[in-house]
Amino acid sequence: MATRRTALVTGSTSGIGLAIARAFAQAGMNVMLNGLGDPGAIEKVRSELAAETGVDVRFDGSDLMRPEAVTALVENAEAAFGRLDVLVNNAGVQFVSPIEDFPVEKWNAIQQLNLGAPFFAIRAAMRGMKARNYGRIINIASAHGLVASPFKSAYVAAKHGLLGLTKTVALEGATAGVRCNAICPGYVLTPLVEAQIPDTMAARGLTREQVIKDVLLAAQPTKEFVRADDVAGFCLFLTSQAADQINGAALSIDGGWTAA
Ligand code: NAD
Repeated sequence: MATRRTALVTGSTSGIGLAIARAFAQAGMNVMLNGLGDPGAIEKVRSELAAETGVDVRFDGSDLMRPEAVTALVENAEAAFGRLDVLVNNAGVQFVSPIEDFPVEKWNAIQQLNLGAPFFAIRAAMRGMKARNYGRIINIASAHGLVASPFKSAYVAAKHGLLGLTKTVALEGATAGVRCNAICPGYVLTPLVEAQIPDTMAARGLTREQVIKDVLLAAQPTKEFVRADDVAGFCLFLTSQAADQINGAALSIDGGWTAA
């Protein structure tokens, strides 16, 4: 049997990251999961995915707030599978506040997780990818990597920065078989977003449908969520041969948000 490709997906215990990990495993890649959460629930996800797909699925719970832990995660994935072919920097958090009140620790946390962790992961993965003349790096940015919304200064700044990191890495890896691209999703109905709906319904006296269309999807012309599985399919495409010449791109999947 041909050697399986191997992938590390950060923040893959939930939402978009889990959908990406599942798509990769279903496509026959060995996958290293990462993220926070209940150990029993994570082990259930890991073992079910391994049983369902027949690939090697492992978990490393490194907390990516610490640069050394990010490096250790990449090294662990390489050691576990013998090499690392695909790196998806997906873990991220959000915090919303007027800038004059923005807590310093929230700014620092968002810069570290949403921008610092991709930098340290790529830094650790790049040497091996270049040496093997193959690597696919995908950074999960956001529509907020391309446009702003008020009160999201730290997130918008980090996601714009992530696009700059993507372009730089794309140039550095271009002749060494490494590709680096960013995906910029609009609103995706992950558990995190789903959990905001009942509170917003209560706070504003709106129906679920009104909250979705008029609040959450106000900027998204299709008035439909992006599905996590669609982002996962996009990632899978970026690891395919058809995408070999896509490099340094910021690729929107946002229902037309950034066309406006
Ligand atoms: P989510 O909260 O469902 O998942 C986030 C993942 O990151 C989880 O697995 C969590 O355990 C992990 N994580 C959080 N802190 C961590 C830490 N310190 N160390 C390691 N892992 C950590 O979020 P999501 O909605 O799936 O978002 C995933 C990515 O997609 C993020 O980068 C987010 O900015 C981006 N994004 C989301 C949306 C959306 O609407 N949901 C839109 C655009 C971009």
